[in-house]
Amino acid sequence: MTNLSGFAQNNPTNEVPNLKGKNVLIVYGGWKGHNPQAFVERITPWLKEEGAIITTSESLDSYTDEKLMAETDLVIQSWTMGKISKEQANGLLTAVKNGTGLAGCHGGIGDSFRDNSEYLYMVGGQWAAHPGGKINYDVNICDTKDPITEGLSDFDVMNTEQYYMLVDPNVKVLATTTFSGEHNAWIEGAVIPVVWKKYYGKGRVYNLSIGHEPKDFDNPSVWTLLKRGFAWAAESKYQAKENLMSPVYDSKQCPK
Ligand SMILES: [Zn+2]
Repeated sequence: MTNLSGFAQNNPTNEVPNLKGKNVLIVYGGWKGHNPQAFVERITPWLKEEGAIITTSESLDSYTDEKLMAETDLVIQSWTMGKISKEQANGLLTAVKNGTGLAGCHGGIGDSFRDNSEYLYMVGGQWAAHPGGKINYDVNICDTKDPITEGLSDFDVMNTEQYYMLVDPNVKVLATTTFSGEHNAWIEGAVIPVVWKKYYGKGRVYNLSIGHEPKDFDNPSVWTLLKRGFAWAAESKYQAKENLMSPVYDSKQCPK
């Protein structure tokens, strides 16, 4: 009998799957300030160690390669403030709809193509500000049962950007950060998601908002969130679909 009740049930030990034999396409480019090449260099040894089959591309045209996209289990995108053509966007959107996962960090996924509404719909969030620039801040694990965050505790990140994201209120949020108001007084106490997971069609989408510089991943908690989330997103084609719908708003009542 097939267990269709979801990932956690399929993995009774709540283990995150590994990437052995998975086809991973890394697409990187865009704003040089995020040094996408350094991000690729940071994650590649781990992907190799995992046994992933890696293809790297510095062109969004890879998204128009139907065969490549159909064979890809996971797209890791690191592309900030770019322009995506209709054809390129359609290639990515179609592949994810059909079960290719999409994962990324920081502006590489959350500030990629500001003028493509369907891309925003797929990712479930868009960067808006990082008050104070590089600062120290806390990250709070708000879901300790999910395999991606299981066993992790709240942690600090140092000298990096605290992303104020505009987020789809239906994504499943795993970690948040609270803004102090030190840099923008009117957002004191604002709680903004840092990590979320969702579906777009059959494809799993994973966002981690930390990662302005590769050194951010030296923090073991951040690195764990990257590794587990990316591995989760690569499983869309192989694991039963989870119900990740987590509406913030009640249809009859607004949150207090
Ligand atoms: Zn940044």
